[in-house]
Amino acid sequence: MAIILRIKDIGKVWHIERTKEQVVALGGISLDVEQGEFLVFVGPSGCGKSTLLQIIAGLEKPGSGTIDVGTSADGQKQTGMVFQEFALFPWRTVLENIVFGPEVRSVPRAQREANAQKLIELVHLRGFEHRYPHELSGGMRQRVALARALANDPAILLFDEPLASLDAQTRKVLQAELVRIWQETKRTFIYVTHGLDEAVLLGDRVVLFTARPGRIKEIVPVRLPRPRSITGRAEAELLEYLSEQIREEVDRSLKAEGLT
Ligand code: ADP
Ligand code: MG
Repeated sequence: MAIILRIKDIGKVWHIERTKEQVVALGGISLDVEQGEFLVFVGPSGCGKSTLLQIIAGLEKPGSGTIDVGTSADGQKQTGMVFQEFALFPWRTVLENIVFGPEVRSVPRAQREANAQKLIELVHLRGFEHRYPHELSGGMRQRVALARALANDPAILLFDEPLASLDAQTRKVLQAELVRIWQETKRTFIYVTHGLDEAVLLGDRVVLFTARPGRIKEIVPVRLPRPRSITGRAEAELLEYLSEQIREEVDRSLKAEGLT
C-alpha cells in the first residue's frame, strides 16, 4: 500500500497571548496514512484532534515535526476539509457553493459546472442545485459541504465531527452515505469523531488519542466487513473496547488535574 501522508513527531503548543498561558496540545504524533484508507481519530475532548487536522490541512503550523503530504504533479491542493459547522456561503446557492474553489482557481465556467453537476449526482442533491443553504436541512447542507470539498479534487478529505450536530436518524443515513462516497471516489478519508459507534462503523483503522497533550495511545485496525451494523457482535465488542480505552484516558486526566 502506498503512503499518502507521513506525520512525524508532530508537537504543538498553543500560546495564549492575553493570559500568557501555554497549552501543550500535541505531544509528538507519528503516523503513516495509507492511500485510500478511512482513518478515524478518537480521543477525549481537548486532546488535540482538531489541532492535528488543521496542521494536516496546512491551516496551522506545527510547533515541531514534519508533515509530508504526497504531492501531485499539477500542484493541486492535496487536502480538503469538512467541518461540523456548516461552513457554506449563505449568499451562494448549492451549485455556487460547490463551484467556489474551482472559480477561485479560474477553472473555466463550463468545466467547473459540469464537474459540479457530477458531484451533485454523487451526493444525491439533484433538484436542490438552486436552493440557498438556509433552505436545506442540516443533512443536506453537509452533503453540499462534502461536494464543495470534493470539487477541489483533494487526495485527502479531512472531516472534523461533520455529523455531530445532526439528529440521530440523519446521522445514520449520512454515515452510510459517507462510506458509499468514500468507496466511489477512492479518496483517503481522515475523520474525527467523538462517537465511538461511528468510529466502529466507518473506520479501516481507529487512532486512539491519549488525553492532552495528545499522543497516540493505540491504533486499532477494524477488520470487519462492510456494511457494518452497530448491533453486530464483533462491532459491539470493539465498541466496548474503545469505550474502555477512552474512559481510562478521561479518568487519568481528571486525576492529573485533581478533579477526582
Ligand atoms: P479536540 O479537537 O481534540 O477536542 P483541540 O485540538 O480543539 O482538541 O484542542 C486541543 C487543546 O488546544 C485544547 O486545550 C484547546 O483549548 C487548545 N486550543 C485549540 N485551539 C487553540 C487556539 N487557537 N488557541 C489556543 N488554544 C487552543
Ligand atoms: Mg475538536
